[in-house]
Amino acid sequence: MYQRVLVKLSGEVMCGEGSRGFDQSNINYLVQQIAQIVDYGVNVGIVIGAGNIFRGEELSEIPHSLADQIGMLGTVINALYLKGSLQKVGIKCVVVSQVTSLPSIRPIHYDDINLYFDAGYVVIFAGGTSNPFFTTDTAAALRAVEMGANLLIKATKVNGIYDSDPKKNKSARKLDKISYYDAISRGLKVMDMEAFSICGRYKLPIVILNFFEDGSLLRAVRGEDVGSIIMPD
Ligand code: UDP
Repeated sequence: MYQRVLVKLSGEVMCGEGSRGFDQSNINYLVQQIAQIVDYGVNVGIVIGAGNIFRGEELSEIPHSLADQIGMLGTVINALYLKGSLQKVGIKCVVVSQVTSLPSIRPIHYDDINLYFDAGYVVIFAGGTSNPFFTTDTAAALRAVEMGANLLIKATKVNGIYDSDPKKNKSARKLDKISYYDAISRGLKVMDMEAFSICGRYKLPIVILNFFEDGSLLRAVRGEDVGSIIMPD
């Protein structure tokens, strides 16, 4: 079992694949999955993206740096929405960020993060890395190291890493366990290279799993075989 985990969620978990905005049944499912790991007793940090609202790469009419800042604000919207949804079912939750000051957002202070976990709060890190030109995968790796996580879980819509695209190649083979070096040298698209590199440097394992398999987050937290794991050789 892992004691402290960071869960990276795409913004799309708020709305369903290929949609935009917020869908209540998707949000209910998301809350249920987070509740399972909170009830299990681990410290939970969350980084959520903004794919349901806006990704910087979608807007070429303005400078990329500005578009990315809009994207980062999208992650703040999702973080607040998620906080409200978790609180509604009795889960204590705090949103921390360096990009914006709002009444329900606290600044990131390392000393406070331990206090939040000790008091049983879920900590949502909003605003990505606070810098344009990155994505929330890199933010997840960074925040996971900052909060002292033992595991980073990337919740996706596929059940792990394959040696080729399983949609195009019927004989694609699932890779249950690979090294950071392999993940980088194979140029895997499942996560940013920067994220692999940060996790590799700090020897933080990453589990890639299918979030839409009920209970998969909990299985990963328990240390069961689920999805694919990326770790040192
Ligand atoms: N973003 C950024 N810096 C960061 C994290 C995110 O500029 O450190 C911006 C970027 O424009 C990105 C958007 O926020 O496209 C939303 O994040 P992401 O694409 O990772 O969301 P997801 O695909 O996970 O929903």
